[in-house]
Amino acid sequence: MIPKLTFALHKKQLVNIDQVVSGLDCNCFCPNPNCNSKLIARKGNIKKHHFAHYETDECVGAFESALHLLAKEIIQTEKRIAIPEMEFYDSEYENATILLSEKKEVKAQSVDLEILQGDFQPDVVMNFGSKQLFIEIAVTHFVDDEKRKKITNSGISTIEIDLSSFMAGFEKQSLVEALIYSADNKKWIYNSKQNLLINNYLKTKKRELEEEEEYYKKIEEEKNSKRKKARLKGYRIIKTNDYYQIHCPKTVKEASNKFKSNAIIERLRKGDYWNGVIYGHIGNSRYVYIGKDKYEIFPSDKDFKLTEIEAKERRRLYGQLMRISSKANIECETCEKCEYFHEYIDHKEEIVCKFK
Ligand SMILES: [Zn+2]
Repeated sequence: MIPKLTFALHKKQLVNIDQVVSGLDCNCFCPNPNCNSKLIARKGNIKKHHFAHYETDECVGAFESALHLLAKEIIQTEKRIAIPEMEFYDSEYENATILLSEKKEVKAQSVDLEILQGDFQPDVVMNFGSKQLFIEIAVTHFVDDEKRKKITNSGISTIEIDLSSFMAGFEKQSLVEALIYSADNKKWIYNSKQNLLINNYLKTKKRELEEEEEYYKKIEEEKNSKRKKARLKGYRIIKTNDYYQIHCPKTVKEASNKFKSNAIIERLRKGDYWNGVIYGHIGNSRYVYIGKDKYEIFPSDKDFKLTEIEAKERRRLYGQLMRISSKANIECETCEKCEYFHEYIDHKEEIVCKFK
């Protein structure tokens, strides 16, 4: 239900019921331009004060027209308005909504109401020097495709203010808040800076991405150069799967001395590099890499027929390697203090060790 009319036209000016005398002496008329009937100010003691149509039926558009008129009047008086933020969905780089410009208050030098601009007539025109901002106040009629086209063709930034919720009745102060200070009920129909801002954003993103790629390329080059230098000096690069731990070649060598010699233990004893990982797949198959050479510890039954003694030997070797591996797992801090520590490559992921 439309609330009672509390605004009317008096000498073509919008007035509040509180500003006029009671009865017909208020000399007020319906704000609906299609009606314009004489109104009577009902300021009794029982009902809330309001205007009623005198001699004619209450018209449907009166309240909406009053709201529309009042909104325009408020903007014209204030000459300033909070404009909403402008967003853009970046599907190219971020897959996210990007804020192009923040909500802010703009202050106009002058404000014109209902003045034809080319082929359409915005409700409000705010003038900022040579620039303009159009404002459409929507209560029940929102900007349609045809109007949007005209607005876009005009090249003038335009916002639409949705006042539909005020049709349930309102206090003037809440209308001022919605029009001037808040941006929640406003949206851009067209913004002349949008394309420029989007292009600038995309350009910046592209440059950032290129710089990032350049940066990582440089880092990778530096790393490769460090690795190359280290290898040239005969140093060893200790790479582990575990970020914080290093498989110490010195410890591997020392620990391997305790065990009975076999092909694998012999190589470790000589100081050949083993990364400490015992690989494996289905069944009993287990293997290690020493340098680039692959050594089977538990060959799968499919490939080898092991005697009971051989199988026992293999199990023992596996146990020995596990013990060596757990001993050789040390932390960066320990490695740093070692006489063979040379340097870090790629933070702490790779360590150059002088042990041979
Ligand atoms: Zn009317």
